[in-house]
Amino acid sequence: RPVAPVGTVRTTCAYCGVGCGVSATPQADGTVAIAGDKQHPANLGRLCVKGSALGETVGLDGRLLYPQVREADGLRRVSWDEALGKMAAKWRAVIDEHGPDAVALYVSGQLLTEDYYVANKLMKGYVGSANIDTNSRLCMSSAVAGYKLAFGEDLVPLCYDDLELADMVVLVGSNTAWCHPILFQRILKAREARPDLKLVVIDPRRTATCELADLHLPIKSGTDVWLFNGLLSYLSRIGAVAPDFITDHTNGFDAALAAANIDCADPLAVAKVCRIDPALLIEFYEAFAATAKTITAYSMGVNQSSAGTDKVNAIINCHLIGGRIGQPGMGPFSITGQPNAMGGREVGGLANMLAAHMDLERADHRDVVQTFWDSPAMARRGGLKAVDLFKAIEEGKVKAVWVMATNPLVSLPDADQARRALEKCELVVASDIMQNTDTNAYAHVLLPALGWGEKDGTVTNSERRISRQRAFLPAPGEALGDWQIISLFAQRMGYAGFDFADAAAVFDEHARLSGFRNEAQDIPRAFDMSGLAGLTPAEYAELEPVQWPARRDAAGVVHSEARLFADHRYAHGDGKARFIATATRAPANAVCEDYPLTLNTGRVRDQWHTMTRTGKSHTLADHISESFVDIHPQDALLHGVREGELARISSAWGAMVARVQHGGGIARGSVFIPIHWNGQTSSDARVGALVNPVVDPVSGEPEFKHTPVRIDQF
Ligand code: SF4
Repeated sequence: RPVAPVGTVRTTCAYCGVGCGVSATPQADGTVAIAGDKQHPANLGRLCVKGSALGETVGLDGRLLYPQVREADGLRRVSWDEALGKMAAKWRAVIDEHGPDAVALYVSGQLLTEDYYVANKLMKGYVGSANIDTNSRLCMSSAVAGYKLAFGEDLVPLCYDDLELADMVVLVGSNTAWCHPILFQRILKAREARPDLKLVVIDPRRTATCELADLHLPIKSGTDVWLFNGLLSYLSRIGAVAPDFITDHTNGFDAALAAANIDCADPLAVAKVCRIDPALLIEFYEAFAATAKTITAYSMGVNQSSAGTDKVNAIINCHLIGGRIGQPGMGPFSITGQPNAMGGREVGGLANMLAAHMDLERADHRDVVQTFWDSPAMARRGGLKAVDLFKAIEEGKVKAVWVMATNPLVSLPDADQARRALEKCELVVASDIMQNTDTNAYAHVLLPALGWGEKDGTVTNSERRISRQRAFLPAPGEALGDWQIISLFAQRMGYAGFDFADAAAVFDEHARLSGFRNEAQDIPRAFDMSGLAGLTPAEYAELEPVQWPARRDAAGVVHSEARLFADHRYAHGDGKARFIATATRAPANAVCEDYPLTLNTGRVRDQWHTMTRTGKSHTLADHISESFVDIHPQDALLHGVREGELARISSAWGAMVARVQHGGGIARGSVFIPIHWNGQTSSDARVGALVNPVVDPVSGEPEFKHTPVRIDQF
């Protein structure tokens, strides 16, 4: 596309939760030169291969460029006015006849914070329903639930610098080398400088991350609570406790320890359940006990489980027992998957959250938000979480859904159920950057959205750092920013409060809400970025990466906190953290004669989500070009499949086809399949079709890491 000479623009990577700064320089020939932003604290100029290839993904091939409406003979290009009018008429009719809970938004960690904020305001404050959930539900909602239970608020205590200050980093359920490569490089570089820094990996697979670890515990999938309950019990038994800290700054220790001691007091028994060599388990326990400056960092292997919240709290318990939190180089650290999963959390983008870290279930919190918004309605209870939302659509309870920047027909568990749901839904709207996706095929209305490099706003990375995404390419076709599309729709619905002039105005409102009635300690909360309120458009344009909390003092100086809980004040009413009693329980569905293998899903190094963007890059396709099923050679022999040939993998929920491979570090009894390949690349490549739709009872996060499957010759 023709490009105006804008010079180099500093922006933020579109992919993982590391949130690296990117310098983008559009070239006269329409390409974009990409480099790491040396000034961005997350990456200091480094980029991984995905970030480096961003320039290959901004072409207009396959883009959704104009609003379209589906008719009997196919899609028809229409004006924005007609598309939004059709949507608003249907939403109004559905709400009038069936109530506000009969409509829903399903949004995405790909949205910018400004988009997320406006979407949440529309649903919770104007439609009056909390039926807005997000694909972040599939990614880190267990981490959110665990933090809220332990600390009273969704608070990530640490920052990336802590990973370099620790004496031991424990990575649990995280293939950091592939999924958060720049963080992994930072840890390795720190170990080069301080060879005593110990790297422990707890993962059922021997991944690329394990290859560089000092210790790998190949845990049986789903047994993390046993391992960390066993650690809590061990630490208590050997006296590796901080009694004053426990007394002064926590509640619930005795109950948590009693729960841990029920079946995890004997390390040999724990080792047996976790299928770990007892010597390795004891080595880990001893190292943890001896190393005050320990970080336990966790990702999808912990979160994506029917016991995900318990896993998170079992980990946090092991930090609280020794008071290992709030100081440099220590603490429990959730590493988020998506570029803006954190921003979505800030604005209340999950169905069970309210804006600015306030609580949907609390009348005083709802009153604060509704007063600030001056809105006509307010959701009064939690809405439908992702898996339940698509069930409700299939049951006809939700009659109109708007899917925004995500591809649930590939990414949801039991993805065939999601397809049936959209087939039955009376009005499916999809706003996206791409024309053809599995989900868009079922949309009645398609809305063209701006993509990376075209849109303007902010994202928040895993260390609470807010960074600007800046536009450097012209808007293609008639595409608009998501916050603009939502605002236009809200206005068509007759709602006031959506006349934002630009992204800066949305950001300003979000920042002001974060401090509204907060300073007066009416609704005290740690999430506060009110110091960033009142920025002029020019100041917003130039905003440097900044961590929240970010408050302004009387002299107008903004103070940002890199690390939380230095004063050991937590967000519960009594100021204390909570130990949470975590009972052990196995994954919801056990393997059986019909489905004797355990399916584990995850990412590969060079692809992202359902490949709508990374699938455009030849450089990235060079790494792995088609879906695969990784299986132990002896299991392959047992089940009659051969490396290099296609196999059919099936579960009680669905089936897919993938090429058999060995060498991915898989244990006997398990298979691994990547999440990225979709129905556009191959008709049977969606692993989501196999995944059991079981969720964690607290967080609603699905069990992507444990589905019983079988494998047969294709
Ligand atoms: Fe982008 Fe993550 Fe790679 Fe950084 S580590 S360049 S944020 S994909």
